[in-house]
Amino acid sequence: MAEKRDYYEVLNVSQSAGEDEIKKAYRKLAIKYHPDKNPDNKAAEEKFREATEAYEVLRDSEKRSRYDRFGHAGLEGMMGGSGFDFGNFEDIVGDIFGDFGDLFGFGGSSRRQAGPKRGRSLQYDLQISLEDVMLGKTMTIDVPRSETCQTCHGTGAEVGSKPETCPECFGRGQVTRTQGFFSMSRTCSRCQGEGRVIPRPCNECRGQGQVRQVRQIKVRVPKGVDTGAKIQMRGEGEAGVNGGPPGDLFVVIHVAPHELFVRENNDLITRASISFPQAALGTTIEIPTIDDTVKVTVPSGTQFGTRLRIPYKGVPYYNRYGSGDLIVELQVETPRNLTERETELLEAFVQLRNEGGAEEHSGFFDKLGDKLFHRHDDLDDDKSQ
Ligand SMILES: [Zn+2]
Ligand SMILES: [Zn+2]
Repeated sequence: MAEKRDYYEVLNVSQSAGEDEIKKAYRKLAIKYHPDKNPDNKAAEEKFREATEAYEVLRDSEKRSRYDRFGHAGLEGMMGGSGFDFGNFEDIVGDIFGDFGDLFGFGGSSRRQAGPKRGRSLQYDLQISLEDVMLGKTMTIDVPRSETCQTCHGTGAEVGSKPETCPECFGRGQVTRTQGFFSMSRTCSRCQGEGRVIPRPCNECRGQGQVRQVRQIKVRVPKGVDTGAKIQMRGEGEAGVNGGPPGDLFVVIHVAPHELFVRENNDLITRASISFPQAALGTTIEIPTIDDTVKVTVPSGTQFGTRLRIPYKGVPYYNRYGSGDLIVELQVETPRNLTERETELLEAFVQLRNEGGAEEHSGFFDKLGDKLFHRHDDLDDDKSQ
């Protein structure tokens, strides 16, 4: 067997490609190489198969992360013996072409009619806190969705009765009219293309075969997720039709802003204020973490905006051991409303610094002194006179 090509290369996307980009790339290839469009073309068929396999892996976050880490070897055992599970094939093509099938001339209504149809997938936007991200959490969400009617088991027919073949289209789902040279087919209006009608509809679902339910579903939110992460819950979407499988539920994570911390990748940034003398002399301050506090040493001569890094107090990595850091950004508070005595002392301080000779200056005090006192002078014209 020839060496397998890299899945990203097959779909011609970058390793960082998002879900939509991957889907688009696959759709493009699938349209080009679809067997219906390339009858008896072995090369096209192989390309189609290769692209579908790549898509099947890259669309699935679990398979994708295994593939990213271990390459093709990482997927052995997860896929069928041939390395590719064709069981999902209809699923994938349906997923991609669902609404577009008609446009491209395959997967169209003639094939769908009355057959099993996969349920729609649902998206649920879940807002969580930064605390949830740090610790991970299992939550229960209320998901409104359609489910197979338990009274008629999805047939839509009242118990004891059965759906019947549509008398209008004789089960074909389409009616053909001939006008002049043209013969036009359209969806049967009597059965909406289903090919069947229900003479005695089920009371519970009014013949729909499905009922709306609000279902409580447990979602495990793993540590380290970020806004935009999608948790796929297979089979928790809308019920399928005519015995088709249910769709999936995608829980999309939204992390609420936190009043103390801003996330930067896996680091958390927080701010702390220290006084100007503390910055100059050094000090120890207490910094809140997500669930505790830590003591941090601020070295003498600390500048405005200095970032101190506290290892491992940031956000845990998703799906692997370890975590980012907590970064404390220091704000230095310039004293305001100085008393006469304080002004005297600071002026004496500047005097001392000036007498000390330029070489000895640390730069910090020069700049700080300049900034501090010149700004003060600008603002307070009376005093500078
Ligand atoms: Zn029913
Ligand atoms: Zn009909």
